[in-house]
Amino acid sequence: MKIVRFRHSEQSRYGILEEDLVREIEGDLFGTWRSTDRLHSLSSLTLQSPVPPTSLLCIGKNYQAHAEEFKSEVPSAPILFIKALSSVNAPGAPVLLPATNLTFQIDYEAELAIVIGRKGKNIPEEEAMNYVLGYTCANDITARDWQYQDGQWARGKSLDTFCPLGPWLETELNPQDLKIEGRLNGTLMQSARTSELIFNIPFLIHYLSRGMTLMPGTVLLTGTPAGCGFARKPQVWLKPGDVFEVDIEGIGILRNPIRSAANAQM
Ligand code: MG
Repeated sequence: MKIVRFRHSEQSRYGILEEDLVREIEGDLFGTWRSTDRLHSLSSLTLQSPVPPTSLLCIGKNYQAHAEEFKSEVPSAPILFIKALSSVNAPGAPVLLPATNLTFQIDYEAELAIVIGRKGKNIPEEEAMNYVLGYTCANDITARDWQYQDGQWARGKSLDTFCPLGPWLETELNPQDLKIEGRLNGTLMQSARTSELIFNIPFLIHYLSRGMTLMPGTVLLTGTPAGCGFARKPQVWLKPGDVFEVDIEGIGILRNPIRSAANAQM
């Protein structure tokens, strides 16, 4: 089942995708809900991120080839960082590049994202998948210069619009071996399978929930494959007019244009 979130009559609503139609649902997506008779054509809707995240937990260097392109060791334990909730962006919405005197090395990261559906703590690995509501695509946009300057990653990962999520939530999917691709202006830049994750999804849920309660609506970005712009020769940075696509087998395509921020203060 594919669940979309969209704006309608000044409100956020959820619906189930039925081919090119969306059937509205009402109730609590994380609790009890029911479908309604209200149908919309998908193309008429302005989609939002599939859920409003309650937190954005992210894993760094979780594909061996990506760790190697950073010229760093393959981690012995998951590397956790957090993106600010204010970075969340919708499918199709522009990623806004800030003024070039702030940062000018903006990179893409295609990632599989997991949405947690139930509150949980100290979750055993064998029960972890019971806590997953579904899966979506993410682009962990990163200001590399800030990431390197700061020595930790939160600021360079948290600029406004730097976390596109979508286009929808897929609730029925085995995430263990999915093709994941990142394309810049139609050119394949990243290609891997989720079976190459160093730390797999059940382990990540188990590991992160030790001592930290995972809330419904937590979005977990599982890491990006090799092929990021910083590791290319010459390096590739996102620029106005670009379009980046994250394409994950069984989910769909998250497509975002790149634009200059209209507000030079950003
Ligand atoms: Mg990432």
